[in-house]
Amino acid sequence: MNSVDYNSGADSFTSSSNGQLDFLSNPRVVENYAALMDTGVFSYIDYLNVEIRNYKNLFSIALNIFNRTSIDAILDFTVLQISDRFLPSFIGFVWRPYQNKEDVTIKGYQNYKTADLGLRIESITPFEVFFQQHAVPISYDALVAQMGDNVATQALREVSPALIIPIVGPSGFYGLILVGRKILGGDYNSIELTFIQQLMSFVSLAIQNNLHYEHSLRDVKTGLYNHGFFMIRLTEEIARVKRSPYTSSVIVIDVDFFKQFNDTYGHVAGDQVLENIAFMIKQGVRLEDVPSRFGGEEFTILLSNTDPEIVWAVAERLRVSIANLKVPWDVPLPSVTISLGIFTFDNNTNVTANEIVNRADMALYASKDRGRNCTTAWEPGLRFQNASYIT
Ligand code: GH3
Ligand code: MG
Ligand code: MG
Repeated sequence: MNSVDYNSGADSFTSSSNGQLDFLSNPRVVENYAALMDTGVFSYIDYLNVEIRNYKNLFSIALNIFNRTSIDAILDFTVLQISDRFLPSFIGFVWRPYQNKEDVTIKGYQNYKTADLGLRIESITPFEVFFQQHAVPISYDALVAQMGDNVATQALREVSPALIIPIVGPSGFYGLILVGRKILGGDYNSIELTFIQQLMSFVSLAIQNNLHYEHSLRDVKTGLYNHGFFMIRLTEEIARVKRSPYTSSVIVIDVDFFKQFNDTYGHVAGDQVLENIAFMIKQGVRLEDVPSRFGGEEFTILLSNTDPEIVWAVAERLRVSIANLKVPWDVPLPSVTISLGIFTFDNNTNVTANEIVNRADMALYASKDRGRNCTTAWEPGLRFQNASYIT
């Protein structure tokens, strides 16, 4: 269809296929041009056209933001959008990845590129309290005037943002977006402020969505992947291995005599040990591996496309490094050890994800059976001296 009728009847206004209103050529408009001009209707139409263009633009930016699948990608795109319009001296994002922890992540940009802005923010809680009452962008000077000159505001003094925008959404306060002054000078005008505010409300939601998605895959205590996500990735890996010439493996890890450890040193010390073990596991594997907290004091790692000798070496390195791990605590804690089981599969192995974990578990039980603090790779006919380990 080439044209759209805005009215029925002989004098209807039409829009041409390129979207421009061609009512200006309508004879009745031509006849009454001067009178219409006087009413200001033409400038109002111009204004509406600009508004429509802005909203279309914003809509496409929002779509782009919500289509990004990582926080880094959301921030990179946002910085491009802002820098293309105003060229601020810097843009900083400060957020709390976990709502129940104080940890803060900071990412700064200058000239489109990531940069260390020298921000040292330990906690965003003071800002949370403030922005619960004032959920609008504010300048650094206005923030200091309202919040006072304290540790929290001093952390921002070095950069003195022209705009401090809270990242808020349905789940509360997540952090701050900091925008520097315009490099070319001048204050942000009301149109620019509106644009930034609208853009940032999308960015805030997208960041929250992303954090929620990430959290749904991870164990809160250790930050490793959770059981559910591990099983999904393992199921995908089985399908991939079926089409590939390589082998992949699962390592199952269980902390030795951990009940006894808890009974002696307390559950809180035990938690601290588990977090340290999780950290070692994360450090000990590649980015593409899938380390997970399978439950309680049990961990699993999926190593895709890895030779069995390498998997064995990874397992043994982990075992030794954890046995040597000293966890700082109020009282000196003894080292704990772990037992490990490995199951390796290739395109000929006809097993489900559950069967893979079961076999790695059988190898783990064999390690326990052999005295703990050791690694066993599953093989056909694996037997235990103590049959009660087999369920
Ligand atoms: P084994 O060498 O045979 O594995 O002995 P174990 O004591 O580790 O085995 P068992 O399964 O009897 O006990 C596991 C213990 O792990 C029980 C529980 O107190 C502890 N545990 C599980 N999850 C957590 C946790 O999140 N924090 C702490 N502190 N302890 C946990
Ligand atoms: Mg256990
Ligand atoms: Mg155990």
